[in-house]
Amino acid sequence: MDQHRLDAAQMPIVAAIYCHIRLLLDRLLARVCGGFGAISGWLLGTDPTAIIPISVNYFPTRECNYKCGFCFHTSITSFVLPIEEAKRGLKLLQEAGMRKLNFSGGEPFIHQRGNYLGELMKYAKAQLRLESVTVISNGSLITEAWMKKYARYVDMLAVSCDSFQRSSNEAIGRFQNARTDHVAQVERVRDWCVEYGVIFKMNTVVNAVNWQEDMTEQLLRLKPARWKVFQCLVIEGENAGEDALRQADAFVVTDEQFQTFLRRHACLGDVLVPESNASMRDSYLLLDEYMRFLDCTRNRKDPSRSILDVGVAGALKYSGFDEEEFIRRGGVYNWSKPQPSPMDW
Ligand code: SF4
Repeated sequence: MDQHRLDAAQMPIVAAIYCHIRLLLDRLLARVCGGFGAISGWLLGTDPTAIIPISVNYFPTRECNYKCGFCFHTSITSFVLPIEEAKRGLKLLQEAGMRKLNFSGGEPFIHQRGNYLGELMKYAKAQLRLESVTVISNGSLITEAWMKKYARYVDMLAVSCDSFQRSSNEAIGRFQNARTDHVAQVERVRDWCVEYGVIFKMNTVVNAVNWQEDMTEQLLRLKPARWKVFQCLVIEGENAGEDALRQADAFVVTDEQFQTFLRRHACLGDVLVPESNASMRDSYLLLDEYMRFLDCTRNRKDPSRSILDVGVAGALKYSGFDEEEFIRRGGVYNWSKPQPSPMDW
């Protein structure tokens, strides 16, 4: 056996170390350049201490076919950018340093039956050559035909699943109608991920309905590469307040209940990635359907101006992004799958 070759188990660790070192070098370069900032910034019109939007979460649509009671990105508009404008915005982000792009919603597969999403993922991966292009979905609208056409442009697909019990999913609102089976669809999507070479991930929101459940057995069977576990989050104007479309009060759990859920699943090791409310609020760069960054630091979503109007740097100043927290929560990880050669595209 070749002692110098890495085995499969070592690859994710090496890739994660590479990502961290690359991030630190990016920041170091910015700090070094900062010494010359006054001069170079004046000469080049750039700010060397500015945030680099390494990882961006883009919500192209707020519409969704589910009705989760705690949803914190609700359908307050039905606006979707024309696809050429969305591509222009993604190009601006790539030029500003974006390396990972995640699509979320709303349900990102709802617009044009997933074709809009698929074409944007194709553009981001094949044209912009981003390191990682990922999507978070409730899974219900994903088809095998879509996977056949677009899986090659998808590094990671995360499906939201809070429970493997039908009654809990119905109590939460994570279902479409009585004829659909959310859990069966999650399992189908997971199998398609394996078949079409996409990293499968799962997201769970711990809330008043599911915090006492044990999901270990199903997780061991589905084997997601990463299981993100969030604490139910309240955001004014989305799931709290007079005009909000959802009211999350009844779904909120205490920190102790959240920790109890985490302890129950501790045997899953590093696959489980917990995220507290504080970490969720400030450590993501969120881009809404108009390509405005959303500042959640005041427990509501305050939008910047659109990057399409003022550029990325201009909008980033109002993003509320906590870069240190982003690094602390492990925002940079092994986020790419092995890539086919350019000829395969
Ligand atoms: S699946 Fe649920 S939480 Fe996600 S966007 Fe739809 S309603 Fe909101």
